[in-house]
Amino acid sequence: MGSDCLFCRIVAGEIPATVVRETDSTLAFRDIDPKAPVHVLVIPKEHYADVATLGQGDPALAGELLATAAAVAEDEGLLGDGFRLMFNTGAYGGQEVFHVHAHLLGGAPLGPMLARGVA
Ligand code: 5GP
Ligand code: ZN
Repeated sequence: MGSDCLFCRIVAGEIPATVVRETDSTLAFRDIDPKAPVHVLVIPKEHYADVATLGQGDPALAGELLATAAAVAEDEGLLGDGFRLMFNTGAYGGQEVFHVHAHLLGGAPLGPMLARGVA
């Protein structure tokens, strides 16, 4: 994927990002357009398009991503009041960047799970 993928380019250091945590296999950085007081994106350094391909292709790496998200939530002081961890996936999920990323959102009450119910 590499140069065609925005988040691979962030991993490569070709595009700047405000990194809050890095491990051998994962990177966490602040969203450029935050939707909450804390809005961090947590990604595997290796390219997977979405959480389905990551979860099926490398469950251990998916676990490392969750561990990084939890560590960032702790660092950001979110464990007491809670937070939301979200993977937008595909067209119906509203995914815009096709390098899997968890949105870690917190720092204020986040409201209903969906702005507008669709059920
Ligand atoms: P998606 O809609 O794919 O779930 O989320 C993509 C997220 O990436 C959006 O929240 C958007 O603000 C964020 N984003 C897009 N381009 C950049 C960028 O260049 N840097 C950072 N830090 N975030 C980005
Ligand atoms: Zn990528």
